[in-house]
Amino acid sequence: MIEGLDALPEPIRHHILHSMHSNISIRHVYHVTELIYCLAKCYHNRVHGSTEPRLEQAWPIYRGNIFDDAWTQLFPLNQVPMLLEDRGVYIVGKADFIHEGVVYDLKTTASLYYILREAAPKPEHVEQVQTYHELLRRQGHRVDGCRLIYLDFGNHPLIFEVEPDSETLHRILIRAHRLDRALSEGASQGIQNPADWECGYCEHSSHCKEAQKC
Ligand code: SF4
Repeated sequence: MIEGLDALPEPIRHHILHSMHSNISIRHVYHVTELIYCLAKCYHNRVHGSTEPRLEQAWPIYRGNIFDDAWTQLFPLNQVPMLLEDRGVYIVGKADFIHEGVVYDLKTTASLYYILREAAPKPEHVEQVQTYHELLRRQGHRVDGCRLIYLDFGNHPLIFEVEPDSETLHRILIRAHRLDRALSEGASQGIQNPADWECGYCEHSSHCKEAQKC
């Protein structure tokens, strides 16, 4: 037996890695998913670029894309784009789908066991879907609720109702302006706000430590 992504046939490995090459950074434009995590990580991503993706990094995204591709197309309102301009800063996002007035976001995870053990839904995911809800509402969509669906390949899905909260968008806007200012000034000090787990998975820990010394 061989275990591991590296043992997969090359066309599959290529396909997995290709799934990572979709994000383009545009000055003053921030995706909601950048703003719910550590701002310093987003700063370093934009200043230093992402390192060449490894199969281990690409795999969780690829795994999520499988459900996204299969399920979101079942709904007439899928991959719904959103855009908000606020004093020169733009926030963009894309909701997985809207169904019967509810905004849905799919979250595929390695194991739902960890989701339940670490308390679900995750605060950053709640903020994400609340922000989507508010942006879509402002764009004229008739949405009155939001839900997160957590999935893995071995258990039944977990579905969480999330209370809409327009205040979340205000907090996201504040973060967008902080990040935009930091990028304009070329200084990332003071914008670190990692969740408990984030630093351990961050490809920019060396850049981050270096910035703290400045
Ligand atoms: S190492 Fe931690 S604090 Fe620094 S950029 Fe990464 S996630 Fe943020």
